[in-house]
Amino acid sequence: MNIYDNIINGLRVGSDRYFDSHNPATGETLGRVAHCSREQVDMAVAAAKAAQPAWAALPDAQRKALCMQLAEVIKTNAEYLAEWVTREQGKPLGGIGPDQVPGARFELWGCEVWTQVPASLELSVEVVFEDETRRDEVHRKPFGVIGTIAPWNWPLLIAVWQMIPALRAGNTVVIKPSEYTSIGTLELVRLLADVLPPGVLNTVSGPGEVGAWLVDNPALDKIMFTGSSATGARIAATAARHLTPTTMELGGNDAAIVLPDADPKAMAMGLFWGAFLNMGQTCACAKRLYVHESLHDAVVAELKTLATAMPMGDGMQAGIAMGPIQNRMQFDKVQALVERAKADGASVVCGGQAPSGPGLFYPLTLITNIADGAPLVDEEQFGPVLPIIKYRDEADAIASANRLDAGLGASVWSNNLDHARAVAERIQAGTVWINQHGAIHPMVPFGGTKGSGWGVEFGIDGLKAVTQAQVISIKK
Ligand code: NAD
Repeated sequence: MNIYDNIINGLRVGSDRYFDSHNPATGETLGRVAHCSREQVDMAVAAAKAAQPAWAALPDAQRKALCMQLAEVIKTNAEYLAEWVTREQGKPLGGIGPDQVPGARFELWGCEVWTQVPASLELSVEVVFEDETRRDEVHRKPFGVIGTIAPWNWPLLIAVWQMIPALRAGNTVVIKPSEYTSIGTLELVRLLADVLPPGVLNTVSGPGEVGAWLVDNPALDKIMFTGSSATGARIAATAARHLTPTTMELGGNDAAIVLPDADPKAMAMGLFWGAFLNMGQTCACAKRLYVHESLHDAVVAELKTLATAMPMGDGMQAGIAMGPIQNRMQFDKVQALVERAKADGASVVCGGQAPSGPGLFYPLTLITNIADGAPLVDEEQFGPVLPIIKYRDEADAIASANRLDAGLGASVWSNNLDHARAVAERIQAGTVWINQHGAIHPMVPFGGTKGSGWGVEFGIDGLKAVTQAQVISIKK
């Protein structure tokens, strides 16, 4: 059985404790992963602290070139890493491009692009005021050491979102991967750290307690967390004790609203992937669908056609569009929410019953005859189940979308752009997509409102978020 250790200060560091990583499609054990000790977490932070001044002092062009080199490393190793994503996380290998299944190869392509874009951005000095008496410039400085904590749903892509802008801006990084998907992330970082000076990029693998030790280290200068709102609240409480700034990318419960002037057939594919990308295990998936009563049956029929046609299985095999749920805890949660909905009288349009056999497979499930307040609507299911709620008045649909303490994304579907925009402006969410859902882009800021967190990633705003402003004020 292969052993996967951490990289601390450029060296491979083992542990006296290991845990297994499993393939959710087969149940097979994939390897043994180091469970870092608290001392090792502190060592990693100390290494990052020691390496940071020299990293920040590199000429910007050199740091930029190194970040571009990281993108090359990702490209060169994309197939190897994509296979790890499929084996460990479950999403099918798939292909790349708009007509292909957005699977593990798509995730690796995203890693490459989300590395190139921050590498190519410039944080120029801004002159915010100037007259005959003074000149005030805003310079962007790195925080220092950034601790990043990643979830299991897009284990490499989200790690890249956190690490690369931080490095580009002159910070050093200690990353804790999810305990469910550690191997792929550790392999990615091992390859990236090879082209960086020792200590610039370090890993600390293990369960939640390792993350808790990391955020409790007072030498951290910033924390970037992506994961559930409950864990985010615990991390924010620790960070508050040390006055460590945080970026919180937390859970979502995105509403999608289909207006009466939408075209069910034309929008079906976009809406389907908006809800079922990565088996619904995506922070900004459509997790509750509000459809105007005039289109309800047509939209349900279109989605059913797609949901029942998608081949599900071990994503290492060709032709698979849908993989398993990533872990037992999530599987049980999805199953319990569907069983509760059924018991409360909701209708199962398709799916709703897990097959027997190995692997955490759960069929794509559409649920109708359900209303706000049902646990499947109000709780983040984070799985392949979509509750579809009929509405009559637009104002009710908007109120429904806004009623929960979540505000990551939302979408509005309509053939009338002015109408869609007017509705979008009334929705409380970090992003409201029109006629698409979850369509993130490396140049466009992304982040949550309300219980979905604070701070943004991506684009120039994301790069600014891993720096602090320093004003240089000159008397003339
Ligand atoms: P999680 O909160 O259970 O775990 C996330 C990470 O936090 C893991 O690495 C875990 O080990 C670590 N952790 C757990 N307890 C900790 C503690 N006390 N201190 C520090 N670290 C701790 O989340 P998950 O189940 O891995 O991911 C699913 C959730 O993430 C969903 O709610 C999803 O919506 C959210 N998510 C949000 C975004 C976004 O950009 N907003 C993106 C992806 C996922």
